[in-house]
Amino acid sequence: MPIVKSISAIPESLTGFSEDELEGLLRVMGEPGYRARQVRQWIYHGLAESFNEMSDLPLALRERLAKEARLHSLTNMREVTGKDSTVKTAFRLAGGNVVEASLMSYRRDSGAPRYTACISTQVGCAIGCPFCATGQQGFERNLTTGEIVDQVLHFARCLRKVTGENERSPTGRSLSNIVFMGMGEPLANYDAVWKAIEILNSPGGFGLGARNLTISTAGLVPQIKRLAGEKLQVGLAVSLHASENRLRNRLVPINRKYPLEELIPACREYSRVSGRRPSFEYVLFRGINDSLAQARSLAELLRGMTCHVNLIPANATGDASFRPPPRESIVAFALELKRLGINATVRQARGQDIDAGCGQLRRRIPAGEKTRHRQDKMMGE
Ligand code: SF4
Repeated sequence: MPIVKSISAIPESLTGFSEDELEGLLRVMGEPGYRARQVRQWIYHGLAESFNEMSDLPLALRERLAKEARLHSLTNMREVTGKDSTVKTAFRLAGGNVVEASLMSYRRDSGAPRYTACISTQVGCAIGCPFCATGQQGFERNLTTGEIVDQVLHFARCLRKVTGENERSPTGRSLSNIVFMGMGEPLANYDAVWKAIEILNSPGGFGLGARNLTISTAGLVPQIKRLAGEKLQVGLAVSLHASENRLRNRLVPINRKYPLEELIPACREYSRVSGRRPSFEYVLFRGINDSLAQARSLAELLRGMTCHVNLIPANATGDASFRPPPRESIVAFALELKRLGINATVRQARGQDIDAGCGQLRRRIPAGEKTRHRQDKMMGE
């Protein structure tokens, strides 16, 4: 835990503070340790948007916090809702960068709705997958822990307004899953992402079960090994998209550094050490990776591993070189995997009418609008 000498020494919003760090900060301000519990209760259970809402804190403390600390780190810039109820939000960060996140709704077996938030971890992405809008924008910077946590809190607040959930009780929340599959490579921002996971999982924080949190990766082998040794059993989703190196080098360029001969054993090791079943994301592109021969090659690659394959038809509104296969090819690919003993499901692409593909909404915000926000910030807005 960093030694907090003064409240203004830390530019991070309070949503990026661990329990111990927040307690340290409040002690520096001359407050008793239990104040940290009260503040966290307001942030994660009360979903407070301002210090002013924290009614059991002394007024003088609320005023001082409002003056010297930042509660949250994001400004909601644009929000669109798709025909399938997927909500996509573009957020402005301090400094003017823009990231996006989405909220997808599903039905439980009981018919009750449940929601999954898809969260960004970087501004842009250095991996450079050619089919991905974010990959084409290049890498700008890592998100801080607070900026990651705040995306989740934003959607939790939206849902509270819609569902009227009991604000003090995180249990039974309809926001039941968080996937780190938005903009960026989460494992390239490991420390900030892991700290966000600890905050989101902590009973004194957001209180979501580790199994309801999933980190995706394009295949950073050293970080997958590190993840295997972590205490919290979060899910791992590996973006595979090809079963042989030549094609994967093209679709997921990090494969040149960590080829399949290293990636797949790391995933087997992750499964063995963590006892968790990794999932493999396989976006199906027409005429590129959707043949039955490629399904057989994929089955061979994953043979003997306890895992799950998510087949995702390419986004129909994305780059014209990367189109989804016809429905019958998708079904045939899935059936071939199942015939060869691989657990596979076809996941429908969500929010296609609202540019829910990673990085698409941000790309459509005019450059002038992004620049203007940067200028506003420089002028002390
Ligand atoms: S698909 Fe994921 S890893 Fe690849 S460029 Fe896009 S954000 Fe990065």
